[in-house]
Amino acid sequence: MSHNLRSGLWDTSPLYQNAVLDLDMAGKKMGLDSNVLERLRMPKKAMCVSIPVRMDDGSVKTFEGYRVQHSTTLGPGKGGIRFHPEVNLSEVSALAMLMTMKCSLVGLPLGGAKGGIRVDPAQLSRAEHQALTRRFTMEIISMIGPEQDIPAPDIGTDAQHMAWMMDTYSMAKGHAVPGVVTGKPVEIGGSLGRPESTGRGVVYVIEHAIELLNKKGHKYVLKNMTAAVNGFGKVGAVAALELFNRGCKVVAVSDFFGGLYDKNGLNVPEVIEYMNQNRTLKGYEKAQVITNEDLFALPIDILIPAAIDGVITNANMKNVKAKIISEGANGPITSEAQTYLEQNGCYIIPDILANAGGVIVSYFEWVQGLQQFFWNENEVNAKLAEIMLNAFNRVAANAERYNCGMKSAALITSVERLSKAMLLRGLFP
Ligand code: GLU
Repeated sequence: MSHNLRSGLWDTSPLYQNAVLDLDMAGKKMGLDSNVLERLRMPKKAMCVSIPVRMDDGSVKTFEGYRVQHSTTLGPGKGGIRFHPEVNLSEVSALAMLMTMKCSLVGLPLGGAKGGIRVDPAQLSRAEHQALTRRFTMEIISMIGPEQDIPAPDIGTDAQHMAWMMDTYSMAKGHAVPGVVTGKPVEIGGSLGRPESTGRGVVYVIEHAIELLNKKGHKYVLKNMTAAVNGFGKVGAVAALELFNRGCKVVAVSDFFGGLYDKNGLNVPEVIEYMNQNRTLKGYEKAQVITNEDLFALPIDILIPAAIDGVITNANMKNVKAKIISEGANGPITSEAQTYLEQNGCYIIPDILANAGGVIVSYFEWVQGLQQFFWNENEVNAKLAEIMLNAFNRVAANAERYNCGMKSAALITSVERLSKAMLLRGLFP
């Protein structure tokens, strides 16, 4: 039987195919043990569940849910729960693989996992969200736990969902178990700085990139630069604000409805205020309306794709003019587009590095919860900044050493650590 047979189960989505392609490329460059590579191509374990929910109108609707653990070599599975109408097993598996790489890259004692429910969260009432979350938690309860696999928020979920997950799990165990999820509200054991952590990290690495590029002869100054942010949610809005606060001109932001553009720079705090009140950017009158595709094509210095995967592909890569891209979302640029953009001089800070701030502070939350000893926000931010800088430097060093882009270098850096651990632990039986 050929070992190249495709599984037919995991690898049906472009995101998964891209993730494996990227892994193969990095593996080849670094001369990775082929047995290790073989193992990493497939997740360790997946659970598919159906989730019946009594809707507000009395009818019962069933939703599809998944939890996938890609690797638990370095520690418990770790990764968010996504509520999105396009979620499927293959996509969740790819995202679990990215979590393995992310946690290994930044040196956390955690593996990689991901979960998702195929649902349009905008169509559900609060009561329906709660019922869906609680029943899902109960269905996957044998797979999760503070030492086993620790969910967190992702697209379509937030701290409230984590509170419901924690409560459901705790009810089943008979005592409060805050460590079963991260991204919880502070009142029940969440960490200060967790909501802003991903967006902050996305901007920290832009600053490191500017410093590095300037050593190579560029003359970038953040406050003289322009930026555009695709996706104005938990990651994008914070990243836009962090850039704005540093004097960078954020000329465009967008959500699922489309984008807002002002060549003189948007008033980001005001746009955030509008978003908080209206839950969409639609209707904001003090800027020009553009499409998401227009946003990608803007002549800007910095681009942050912070919405969802697969937004920059071979269909639009030639329009992208940004000099630096920091991937706020997971997998926003396809392998092909990444190669093209890097060859054309674009400096891409890859997802597993750029957006790792979220899981880093999730780790802090887990540690604080286990110790029942909580840190102030300055401490959280300082430790976050230190880990991000350290990871950035290690990736940049490998980019030099292997003469490759930051994306491959990040995977190489991640797999260097992970493969050592895999080889030391060995194969069971
Ligand atoms: N969903 C976030 C991510 O993709 C955070 C995961 C976590 O904190 O566990 O990195």
